[in-house]
Amino acid sequence: MSIWEAQGPGVTLVKPCVDAEKDPRRKIVGFIIHYTDGNFDGDVDWLTKQDDVPVSAHYVIGRDGQVAQLCRIERVAYHAGMSWGDLNPNIYTIGYELCSNAKQEYKFTDFQYRFLAEHILWVCKKYNLIYRYPDGDPKSTRNKAYWKEWFLHSDGFIIGHSAVNPHKPDPGVFFDWDKLLQMFQQRESGSETRQPAAVAIEPKTFWKKFLPKKLLTSKK
Ligand SMILES: [Zn+2]
Repeated sequence: MSIWEAQGPGVTLVKPCVDAEKDPRRKIVGFIIHYTDGNFDGDVDWLTKQDDVPVSAHYVIGRDGQVAQLCRIERVAYHAGMSWGDLNPNIYTIGYELCSNAKQEYKFTDFQYRFLAEHILWVCKKYNLIYRYPDGDPKSTRNKAYWKEWFLHSDGFIIGHSAVNPHKPDPGVFFDWDKLLQMFQQRESGSETRQPAAVAIEPKTFWKKFLPKKLLTSKK
């Protein structure tokens, strides 16, 4: 077991999941935004439970101040599974789960947009990336060839889960991409930077032993 600290500003809880994978191909070039259709405590429990299907995310962003980190960013989390064989978005991205059902009456909060912008800026600084929407559009579904270019040759991008998997609805029509851009501008002009505080002990992974290899590279 190893001990690790939260990575990036604003993380209030570290609760390591078992479904985090060391992968020599790991190369952070982008960010994928999801919603959970749940609440913070339940989402963290679900994403860290020991199960025979690997599902995970790097961060779970609550609605009013709570953020959990479940997986170190140097590791691959299973948040954006799809079926392009060797081209696995998880290897190239950090996954953020927003607690919301993305219905209008339960819309994403200012806190969630603010955290995303602040945290993505922190990662961009660390890895020398430039935040941007691919060709100005974070929502459109594109084909494997398109994403391959971004994954292998880009130095920064932000997209919704639905952009790499048309079967997924998230983050949906109520996620305000323009508002996120405004948050970036606000954060860049401000000077406040919070430091990571939480510390956790990493669990042993156990499922690799008995899962077929195919499951290790995809998530439904
Ligand atoms: Zn998703």
